[in-house]
Amino acid sequence: MIEDKFIECAKRGKILAAKCKKCNNTQLATILFCLKCNSNELEHVELDGEGRVVTYTILHVAPEGYEKYSPYAWVILESNGLNISGFLEGVKSPSELPLNSKVKIIGYDERGIILSKA
Ligand SMILES: [Zn+2]
Repeated sequence: MIEDKFIECAKRGKILAAKCKKCNNTQLATILFCLKCNSNELEHVELDGEGRVVTYTILHVAPEGYEKYSPYAWVILESNGLNISGFLEGVKSPSELPLNSKVKIIGYDERGIILSKA
């Protein structure tokens, strides 16, 4: 399963991406056809899991089952031209996480992709 491989890469701090052999578009590997040209001739590449914060939401009241993690930020980061979402623990207020801050992928668990400040 491609999802398993994606998770295994995230646990090593990498992003599993798919590069289109026809048009060179790069996208997340969990999408099985090229979003630009519709080709299914994709090859997998591992990208460095560092990026910058595009936007985020701070959650002080976590959904059921996630209380132990709060407060945390649900972050959209931009890395290698891709937008990826992940969790960043211990963020209480926006002053702690300016936009464009550097973050990196450090793991994957029940929450999804786990980030830390880079
Ligand atoms: Zn393409």
